[in-house]
Amino acid sequence: MRAPGKVNLSLRVGAVGADGYHPVSTVFQAVSVVEEVVATHADERTLSVSGPQAELVPTGPGNLALRAAELLAERTGIDAGVHLHLHKGVPVAGGMAGGSADAAAALLACDTLWGAGLAREELVELAAELGADVPFSLTGHTAVGTGRGDLLTPALSRGEFHWAFAVQDAGLSTAAVYGRYDELVAAGRPAAQVDGAEADVALLQALLAGDAHALGAALHNDLQDAAVALDPRLAEPLEVARRTGALGVVVSGSGPTVAALGRSRQHALVLAAAFTAAGAADRVLTATGPVAGARVVGVLDTGA
Ligand code: ATP
Repeated sequence: MRAPGKVNLSLRVGAVGADGYHPVSTVFQAVSVVEEVVATHADERTLSVSGPQAELVPTGPGNLALRAAELLAERTGIDAGVHLHLHKGVPVAGGMAGGSADAAAALLACDTLWGAGLAREELVELAAELGADVPFSLTGHTAVGTGRGDLLTPALSRGEFHWAFAVQDAGLSTAAVYGRYDELVAAGRPAAQVDGAEADVALLQALLAGDAHALGAALHNDLQDAAVALDPRLAEPLEVARRTGALGVVVSGSGPTVAALGRSRQHALVLAAAFTAAGAADRVLTATGPVAGARVVGVLDTGA
């Protein structure tokens, strides 16, 4: 399976509700920074991980991919085993929904391997139980997310956009970033109105027109100040991207990955090189978006 990471082109966050969750209005774009997941028949449900930062990923029941397998088994009544191998291309705790991508891939993998035959809509419902970003990891492309980000409406987008990502070794906890956001709101920062995508009309038009300049100008993230407050070094990649002529730059989701929009594939490479030269990132990635959601890319014959 292959499942994409995402960047939030816009992320608007309302005031925290009585249930402890924040209503959001967001525009997701799936990007070509991907998780590869290989599912193999096994007696138990086990998991292994490779790739950069693999040592940061839990391999026990706390792993979202294993939770996805458990949930599918429970709901379909299929008591089968699976070994899941995750090759992590998406930064861990980076604000690009790598764990959610693994969960989406695991749902699809187990559905396929166990012959469960769930409809796409049923998989999307299970995905929403696993986490707010998991439905989008399944559907991919471009979508507006409301509720907790899990109620998706596809958005039309033309052409390809070119990104450079400044990745930090030390991730940020999503809960900590939201906590800091709450403090900023308590101190007087107005929380967003999140009753639709009205605030993002310019952004959605830019996508429809395939206009990278307009998209760059419309990028927005309500969590950016909170992420920068928790990790002040993020000011640097933001500044380097602006200096290097990025069409727009934004912290991705709850950070700390910084996403800079280039004019072209070549310009995205220039932006990535500028991050490296300035020492503003521990690692850099370039990617295009939008791309498809989680999908089966092949069946390996192990000869068993
Ligand atoms: P989001 O953008 O949805 O907030 P993220 O990309 O910031 O998520 P993830 O890498 O998905 O963050 O995961 C955050 C934490 O969840 C990790 O620090 C890790 O402890 C735990 N985790 C559980 N399952 C996974 C997984 N499959 N891959 C990575 N981290 C996982």
